[in-house]
Amino acid sequence: MSSRQNDLQRRGIGMTSQRTRERLIQRLYDEGLRNSQVLDVICSTPRHLFVDEALAHRAYEDTALPIGNNQTISQPYMVGRMTELLLADGPLDKVLEIGTGSGYQTAVLAQLVERVFSVERIQALQERAKELLAELSLRNVVYRWGDGWDGWNALAPYNGIIVTAGATEVPQALLDQLAVGGRLVIPVGESDDQQQLMLIVREEGGFVYKTLEGVRFVPLLSGTLA
Ligand code: SAH
Repeated sequence: MSSRQNDLQRRGIGMTSQRTRERLIQRLYDEGLRNSQVLDVICSTPRHLFVDEALAHRAYEDTALPIGNNQTISQPYMVGRMTELLLADGPLDKVLEIGTGSGYQTAVLAQLVERVFSVERIQALQERAKELLAELSLRNVVYRWGDGWDGWNALAPYNGIIVTAGATEVPQALLDQLAVGGRLVIPVGESDDQQQLMLIVREEGGFVYKTLEGVRFVPLLSGTLA
């Protein structure tokens, strides 16, 4: 075992306590999440490894936490909610994720769909996420450092697209890259405190838009950052 793996195991002690995680799952259930596959995956994914060691003791609280570069790891409820929406119509083989961040949502998705294509604009964050997912043996993910407003056209179309940052409008590229029958889950709003979660389904005849609850995500920015 490498010293890095050793270190990962040590960091798990206490934090991986089954009771702490089960309490989180109970809470997500109480808040309305019902997909048992999604809940099982959230229960078994070591969220404490996706945050700074100093915050690891808070990793199983249902809250967003800072991950550096002014970004946050998504709240477990929101990860579960968006994943449920994405999977509500059955299993998915190709999912595009915009906003790799810590890689936590990526890791959850990777255990539930065949392949994940993850785009992140901040290279340093994505490199860290990439390393961690490799150490967790999640190998069905490919990464691209780029601007998510453009999606990832070369590998389109996708059966599912999930955006983990708040967009001022639905990026046209993502609509174009969604397969017929595919589902896009995205927070949309003109300002940070006016975001609504949206589900967009592409049908033969066009796009069907559904506006869901109010949410709060960091903004979907433009351009890239090393
Ligand atoms: N799902 C991540 C959430 C990270 S926060 C997690 O659980 O950790 C949102 C992420 O979206 C940030 O990492 C931010 O850098 C990224 N982001 C913002 N605008 C983007 C864009 N235009 N393209 C790609 N990623 C973007």
